[in-house]
Formats: sequence, structure tokens, C-alpha cells
Amino acid sequence: MQLATVLFLAASFVKFASGADWCYQSQVACNHTCTGPDTWGVVSQQCNGGAQSPINIVTRKLLLDERLSPIQLTGYQEVFNGHLINNGHSVQLDLPSSLKISGGNLATKYKAVQLHLHWGRDGGSGSEHLIDGEQFPMEMHIVHIKEEHNSLSQAVKDRAGVAVLGFFFQESGSSNKKFDSIINALNFTTQPSKSNNIVSLYSSCKVLSSPLVVPALG
Ligand SMILES: [Zn+2]
Repeated sequence: MQLATVLFLAASFVKFASGADWCYQSQVACNHTCTGPDTWGVVSQQCNGGAQSPINIVTRKLLLDERLSPIQLTGYQEVFNGHLINNGHSVQLDLPSSLKISGGNLATKYKAVQLHLHWGRDGGSGSEHLIDGEQFPMEMHIVHIKEEHNSLSQAVKDRAGVAVLGFFFQESGSSNKKFDSIINALNFTTQPSKSNNIVSLYSSCKVLSSPLVVPALG
């Protein structure tokens, strides 16, 4: 079940894109070889900046921004084939650039690049962001870049170059059939790899056959 979506202008997204050996605090406790949040700045200087994520969203402190209009999704009703890969930090599905978002006080249109998931073990805490201290079992990030940019690596150099839609999930008594293609393809992505060998490491799947529209937080 999808709970809510939040738009992140992800200047700090570079820490994910860099692919360096960063990790979460929970992983630092059991694996001292990775770089935890306290030293993420070592992985990327931008992680020492002032606008960081993930964050804990405290709803009683939220202020309504009247400039925010609904996010407009374009192309998200089309079925497409995508490549799924285990990138070592997450499972990632490449998305066609025909998927676009606008609105939400974004200055221009942004095109999709990929989506990836953050999840916990056995339905436990897994989301990156928290709402009032609550961590959700899973969080999906759909990463978009400004139309004028040609790649994610180029877009992260632009402070407003990347826009990420974040979706929180919780367990439900009924399955979400729209995720069957991704779940089935996970069997082929158990090992991380940066290889471009599509045949042996990627699985094609059809997903998002209907819109991913969920209520906006504001
Ligand atoms: Zn993410």
C-alpha cells in the first residue's frame, strides 16, 4: 500500500549516485569497513552541506507552501520495458525519459531516469525518511533530472538538477499486483554488479501499467 509521496530536490542525492562505500548507521554497527552518516562528507563533499536528506518529517512543524501545486505525471500510464539491476546499495529499475513530472513549484519539466527501493528485513524498518519518527517498511524513490541534462552525473552538478519522488509503503493484507514484475525479476538480481552485461545480469519487466498517483503530503 502506498501511503504518501514527498518531493525531494535532491542535491544530496549525489551520495547515492557516487556508488562509494557509504552505509547507514545501522550498518556501521556491524560493519566497520563502510562509511557511516557521520563521515558521509568523506564520500562526497556535498554531504557536508546544509540541505541534507534523509530527514525526519515532523508534521506539527510543517508549514503549508502556497506555491506548491499538484505534481503532474506524464507518460506514467504507458507500459514499458526496463532493466533491473542490483547496484550494491539497492535494486534499481531504469526508466524511459518519456516519463516526466512537472508542477509542484518545479521550475521546469523533469524526466525520469530510474527508480530504486529502500526496504527492511521481513517488513521491518526500511524507509530512508521518517514521519514523526516512524520508519516505514519500504520507500521507493523515482529519480528525475531536468530535461536539459543528459545524464544523472551531469544533473547532480546543478543544485536543482534532480527531483526525486519518494513513496512510503506499509504492509497490507492484499498483494499489490503492479509490483509482480519487479518482485519476480528480483530473483535474477541477488548479486550486486556494475557490469553492463544486460543478458546475464538484467531482467526485463513491465511495470507501472497504471498511474502511480498517490496523495501528496503538501
Ligand atoms: Zn533512494
